[in-house]
Amino acid sequence: MSTQIEPLDVALEQLKIAAEMLNLDPGVHAFLKRPKRTLTVSVPVKMDDDQVQIFWGCRVQHIDARGPYKGGIRYHPCVNLDEVKALAMWMTWKCAVVDIPYGGAKGGVCCNPKKMSQTELEHLTRRYTNMLLDFIGPHKDVPAPDVYTNPQIMAWLMDTYSRFKGYSVPECVTGKPIIVGGSEGRNEATSRGVLISIREAARRVGMKMKGATMAVQGYGNVGGNAAKIAHNMGVKVVGVSDSRGGIYSPKGLDPAKVWEHKMKTGSVLGFKSAVKEITNPELLELECDILVPAALENQITKTNAGSIKAKIVGEAANGPTTPDADKILREKKVFLIPDILANAGGVTVSYFEWVQNLTREHWTLEEVNRKLENVMVKSFKDVYDAMVKEEVDMRTSALLLGVGRVAKAIETLGLWP
Ligand code: GLU
Repeated sequence: MSTQIEPLDVALEQLKIAAEMLNLDPGVHAFLKRPKRTLTVSVPVKMDDDQVQIFWGCRVQHIDARGPYKGGIRYHPCVNLDEVKALAMWMTWKCAVVDIPYGGAKGGVCCNPKKMSQTELEHLTRRYTNMLLDFIGPHKDVPAPDVYTNPQIMAWLMDTYSRFKGYSVPECVTGKPIIVGGSEGRNEATSRGVLISIREAARRVGMKMKGATMAVQGYGNVGGNAAKIAHNMGVKVVGVSDSRGGIYSPKGLDPAKVWEHKMKTGSVLGFKSAVKEITNPELLELECDILVPAALENQITKTNAGSIKAKIVGEAANGPTTPDADKILREKKVFLIPDILANAGGVTVSYFEWVQNLTREHWTLEEVNRKLENVMVKSFKDVYDAMVKEEVDMRTSALLLGVGRVAKAIETLGLWP
């Protein structure tokens, strides 16, 4: 039997904890456990060598009681249906925690984008979009980037959707390039939100951001930008990693230079001013004040939670910590900012992008960032105050808020027929 903890088990366990504390009606709890709709597709793509390859893909729509489905699309060799179901559920709670009018969804295509050409990625994206046409749309389900997808991929999605409609529909997807209706600040929004929530946590525990040390697991769009923003706030980024391994420097790394190095070589490894190279497990256990897991699920488990030295953990990734690890961190009095709060800046600015598209407006970066700051500070306060009041931890408090709002919406709408 596999000992691997599955993200869907984690998501269902979290829901169970919230459902019990909220005293949810068993019918509503059952409703929340499963996605409303799941679509799986086999996407045929002619590769550069003229051979046809079939890629497995899916789109999972969890609950839309608070508004259209919303969530990213992930391109990853290990993506599977249960994982996407968990990610879709987390999107539902996330949108409710920051109180934006969306439900939760997620999509995935099982592929290795690092080994595919731009043409292959474009063909895959367009064909996958084509197979999703009846399921997505500005008022139904609005996709966005996630792991290994990016603004260019969103542009292809928008173009494919628009070609089928016969007119341009920028509001069908968020995280697009600015030139085709993307929002200022969307690219860094997740990371900016993570740092705002870490700053709010630091304030509560009496930690100064200036001079605090931080380690970041994952150096993609979210991890890389989190490191850069932290550096600009005076935080010392002592360790970063990507899927191949990590680098450490107690004096602090220059995140922008590490980014340049990664763009050139494909990895953070080999960065010249690093003192030593470390493994991903070692990165999580580094001596530091702040830890930012910004990679995949299931990284902080009961095996390593006891060895984590950070005082604040800001979950930039979705589902990086298992419920067993949550307990250990709580006992160690680590201040954990849960994913559905910490990384909600991304979907928040996605919402701003959608509103701008629907109203045919374009807001300035200052306006976007000011609105993001307001949403993050307010949501953090809501979760923090409820945590103190209910005498729970931050994850439970965020779940009580998110699940509670969704359950209320379901009860208010009633069950048809
Ligand atoms: N993929 C991101 C997330 O997990 C963003 C989703 C969105 O903007 O719709 O929150």
